[in-house]
Amino acid sequence: MTTAYQHLRELHRDAALVKSVGALLAWDQETYMPAGGAAIRAEQSATLATIAHAKATDPRIADLLDECEGHSPLVGDRNSPEARNLHEMRRDYDRATRLPATLVAELARVGSQSQQAWKDARERSDFEAFRPWLEKTLELTREKARCWGAPEGGELYDALIEEYEPGARAAEIERVFTPLGERLSSLVAELLDRGTPPNDAPLKIEIPAERQHAFGLRVLESIGFDLRTGRLDTTTHPFCEGVAPGDTRLTTRYRESSWTDALFGTLHEGGHGLYEQGVPKGENFGEPLGEAVSLGIHESQSRLWENLVGRSREFWQWAQPIAAKTLGDEVGRFSVDELYGAVNLVRRSFIRVEADEATYNLHVMLRFEIERSLVRGDLSPADVPSAWNARFEELFKVPVPDDKRGCLQDVHWSFGLIGYFPTYTLGNLNSAQLWERITADLPDLSQMIARGEFAPLLGWLRERVHAPGRRWTPPELIERLTGRPLSADPLFDYLSTKLRPLYGL
Ligand code: ZN
Repeated sequence: MTTAYQHLRELHRDAALVKSVGALLAWDQETYMPAGGAAIRAEQSATLATIAHAKATDPRIADLLDECEGHSPLVGDRNSPEARNLHEMRRDYDRATRLPATLVAELARVGSQSQQAWKDARERSDFEAFRPWLEKTLELTREKARCWGAPEGGELYDALIEEYEPGARAAEIERVFTPLGERLSSLVAELLDRGTPPNDAPLKIEIPAERQHAFGLRVLESIGFDLRTGRLDTTTHPFCEGVAPGDTRLTTRYRESSWTDALFGTLHEGGHGLYEQGVPKGENFGEPLGEAVSLGIHESQSRLWENLVGRSREFWQWAQPIAAKTLGDEVGRFSVDELYGAVNLVRRSFIRVEADEATYNLHVMLRFEIERSLVRGDLSPADVPSAWNARFEELFKVPVPDDKRGCLQDVHWSFGLIGYFPTYTLGNLNSAQLWERITADLPDLSQMIARGEFAPLLGWLRERVHAPGRRWTPPELIERLTGRPLSADPLFDYLSTKLRPLYGL
């Protein structure tokens, strides 16, 4: 290993240390910070972001990269860990330096004002109050995309997706999403119009937060989340923060009248947390090899534990007696089948974050279509509500009552997170396609889950998905692991095979 390569690794580690302090501040802000700390916290975060950006765009990185890229023992085999590490370092450096510091600052400033405007507008369901902010953030986000540039043969929107899902292209996503949307829409219609829904009584039991917390911790430990290098705390909007090596923070929220919310939220964030604990941060902190590869792969891990595991019958075979003991007799009087049925109810709801597995992706597709049209300039911000409502009714067969339950419900667009939504559905697709491979490799997996033996499943994911970090792009990773490019079939087949019998069809 050359000294230049070693030096490059040190610079990345140094930048990551600053970023991890910012992550810790962000976690604190969402959990324990008193309200009075908000103003100074905004300054603290902005100061750290500036230092981190300066470190990420340090001109010494360019020189060291040049030197390493000309050194054949490092890059001779372009698939070696060192060559991939350098390739990704170059990518990050190029993307960071292509954005003028003024644009970065303007995006941050407008983003924080716009987010406040969005909060008020959503509260009052007043799209017109938010429209000027949407126009501003859209303009700045398109400017950012122009700085990065559309990839060869791609469109401007691709430059934005690239930030969250390297290698993904809008046209390719559309090719997979469109047929999936049509099939899901008819599956939902069939279930709700002709099927008999499972009994929702198990979902309606009131359970104190402390018991829910104890149950959540028990489940987390059982699936392999290491509480010596992680925590579970309470917040309003659950998330997972992979702060640094040895420090992964999960958050959840408890609603006493709806105990399964926290359980599935905890399993979801737990899946993210297992991924964060599994990437080789210890040896490669701050380097691409020690980082999660994309949001779509991250989300595949959370959805896999939340849905493929947590909403399976086998999981409830294991969890039912534990739930009876930890949550109480009221839960204990329901059978495995009753619990399994209740957690798989399908509903036509307006809110994405409350959606079940069958309708969830329809919510995402709607957002993908609209934001892509916005970036292309085919749709103006003023026409978002009418475009949203028309498409929603086509997909869900019910009219949107107001913008609060329509185009104002998500925070993303207010601070320029455009190109982010498709990664939710990519995560679902990845999880189902990986699951086909996993169940072929581990034929006894259902029995293991029914016995609460999750280690073989976690071991499979650790070795093949977590350990490579960013060694492969997400499309490469999926193809290497499953033998084919991403397809909608595994997800659709899984949902249809599970849900039709539960609805008596
Ligand atoms: Zn997630």
